[in-house]
Amino acid sequence: AKKIVVVGSGHAGAQFCASVIESKEDVQLVLVGDEAHLPYQRPPLSKTYLKDPQPEAALLRAASFYSDNNTALQLASKAVDIDRQGKTIGLASGERLAYDCLVLAMGTRARTLPLFEGGYDNVFTLRTLDDAQRLRGRLQAAQNVLVIGGGFIGLEIAATSAQLGKAVTLLEAAPRLLGRSSSPEISSYLLEKHRATGVDIRLQTAADRIDVADNSVQGVWVGEDYLPADMVIVGIGAVPNDELARQAGLECDNGVVVDAYMRTSDPDILAIGDCTAFPSAALGRRIRLESVQNANDQARCAALTVAGKPQAYAALPWFWSDQGAVRIQIAGVPEQDHKRVVRGDPAQDKFSVLYFKGDILTSAESINSAADHIAARKLITLGTAITPAQAADAGVPLKDLMN
Ligand code: FAD
Repeated sequence: AKKIVVVGSGHAGAQFCASVIESKEDVQLVLVGDEAHLPYQRPPLSKTYLKDPQPEAALLRAASFYSDNNTALQLASKAVDIDRQGKTIGLASGERLAYDCLVLAMGTRARTLPLFEGGYDNVFTLRTLDDAQRLRGRLQAAQNVLVIGGGFIGLEIAATSAQLGKAVTLLEAAPRLLGRSSSPEISSYLLEKHRATGVDIRLQTAADRIDVADNSVQGVWVGEDYLPADMVIVGIGAVPNDELARQAGLECDNGVVVDAYMRTSDPDILAIGDCTAFPSAALGRRIRLESVQNANDQARCAALTVAGKPQAYAALPWFWSDQGAVRIQIAGVPEQDHKRVVRGDPAQDKFSVLYFKGDILTSAESINSAADHIAARKLITLGTAITPAQAADAGVPLKDLMN
């Protein structure tokens, strides 16, 4: 049987194994992951996991799924090098694993901020279940929570902490929330909503100095202002784990570069999920996405490539984020130079921002409007021509514009 080694036991790695198993090819799978846990769902970590009195990790598959399907799990083991000539990978333990096909699914890690890089006891980033366990432990006793970064994860943690009754302050260096990924309409709406629930959001603000005692941050200085903090959570984005690929001489550029079939510059090595930079046919350029959808769909695409039935990756990107009572759903990749119309009323907590190129819907950001989101996904995929004016009329369901 062909031996496939997967590095990274997150969403993409686990889905890849599941898809290969479904394909019933005669293969032997080894899933190598540096975390000690069975593959689990990451999204709840900034949401329900932090407030549940008895949280449990949501496993992606039961343990028996792997053992029943000839898939060896090698957890708590880190891959440290790839020998492309000899077709083996080295683990931190010194062990080497041979492969016919290698799949890199290493995800990303949280970006850190130099100001807080002292190894302080009460400064956290959130990427893994272990991170969430530590953060949660501290959060329970904390009163003043300081969040650095107004991106998705920072906002989710701020909302969850506010729901737990904490005094939350969030500093965002940019002039608006979610500045890199969302429309100004969504940014203003969220600013208002989070402030209404008591989160003290300060835009265009960065901490200048920190006040430390007993290896813990006691507070930060913003100019003349002192903000006390029982804990600090840094949520300023993620960087791809592409070092292993880089060291092996694979092409990397903000992630492991792959073609539309998830092949790296070495035909025996594929890469999937958050760690890849891939060609987007819809956008006409190479992008890297951080989402469950992309991890799962790239995993399925790679499984087809391995089975000798390659199909170019063309899945529509979609994403969601839960921030307190607000659910944001995004279809497509919002391009800020496209024309935007608002459908529905932000004052009613239910609306969508639709992006157009001419009469073609290119993406949609929906707030508490699942029906718009689902219809937008279909309209974008079909490429149906609709005018922005038609789409803005909230009196007509978006799905009725399909034909
Ligand atoms: P990961 O799930 O990160 O898995 C990569 C794995 O590889 C990790 O376990 C890593 O430790 C391991 N690894 C790395 N290097 C090595 C090595 N050398 N050897 C062995 N193992 C290695 N997405 C959404 O769509 N919606 C959400 O609401 C949402 N919420 C999120 C909330 C949080 C707190 C976080 C952290 C992410 C969230 N995401 C969300 C993003 C989503 O979780 C990721 O897009 C997804 O996990 C990507 O899957 P992946 O398999 O590519 O990477």
